[in-house]
Amino acid sequence: MAAVILDGKKLSIKIRESVKTKAALLKEKGVTPCLAVVLVGDDPASLSYVKSKEKALADAGMESLDIKLPQETSEEALLAVIEDLNKNDKVHGILVQSPVPKHINEETVNSAVAPEKDVDCFHPVSVGNMVLERPGFLPCTPHGILMLLNEYNVKTSGAHAVIIGRSNIVGKPLANLLIRRNYNATVTICHTGTENLAKHTLQADILMAAAGKPCFIKPEMVKEGAAVIDVGINRVPDISAQKGYRVCGDVDPSVEQKAGYFTPVPGGVGPMTIAMLLSNVIEAAAAFAAKSACTAAYT
Ligand code: NAD
Repeated sequence: MAAVILDGKKLSIKIRESVKTKAALLKEKGVTPCLAVVLVGDDPASLSYVKSKEKALADAGMESLDIKLPQETSEEALLAVIEDLNKNDKVHGILVQSPVPKHINEETVNSAVAPEKDVDCFHPVSVGNMVLERPGFLPCTPHGILMLLNEYNVKTSGAHAVIIGRSNIVGKPLANLLIRRNYNATVTICHTGTENLAKHTLQADILMAAAGKPCFIKPEMVKEGAAVIDVGINRVPDISAQKGYRVCGDVDPSVEQKAGYFTPVPGGVGPMTIAMLLSNVIEAAAAFAAKSACTAAYT
């Protein structure tokens, strides 16, 4: 029996509609939610991610401040740009598109963004808040995945979730959120040091692949009826495609026949990531509006 498709596109439209309503309410209060999007260099994949984020912001009635810097921009110059954005009251969220050029330390850049504008949840303070379950932004891709599981009533409590990948933006935060009491999953994280990967993946009630390896999860690695979440976005050369490449996930599409639930690529996790980013910008703008109202009342 074919799997239930976890339709991220459909759910993201619902979330984006609610974001649009909240943006309009904030505008009525004189605050137009705005995300500064900083891109260093001209990597084509990064350019296309930035464009789709800016389009999503515009569609939701929000503003984007588009800052494109040349590849040779120094770390010092980039930090100065971020500092200006931190101080700019019209900007509520700051996103520095990764990867940054090799001569720039990504950790330093992530730590330079003011935590109250860190809508990507990359700053050490944001990560600490998430791990300690304190108020703060949740990381967009893991949060989007959890929203998707919730929407389709995929049971996480008591489930064994196996995550492939230990990155700071997907694997680690996803594992952290899944062990919260409200999700209550038991988590295994696999990575390049894992021996006999299939031994682990076959135990997964929920299998989450974020390795960046095209179609490498095959049906024989998946338990019958498992929920399979494909986070991978890989460009593979394809001369028959107009752009010369096609996008595929980490999971072979034939896994759909064996899985109980399945996220397509594209149209699964990707749109959820953007929806949760918009949602974080609204949260940041709402917090700014509340703080401004409070300040006004006491001055
Ligand atoms: P990454 O690219 O930084 O690292 C890959 C991780 O996978 C590493 O932790 C590594 O240990 C692990 N890994 C690689 N090969 C493996 C193997 N053969 N067996 C076991 N583990 C292996 O990770 P990332 O930044 O999380 O990105 C992973 C993929 O997810 C990429 O394709 C990326 O484009 C995609 N991604 C998608 C979204 C989205 O919104 N859908 C968001 C972020 C990342």
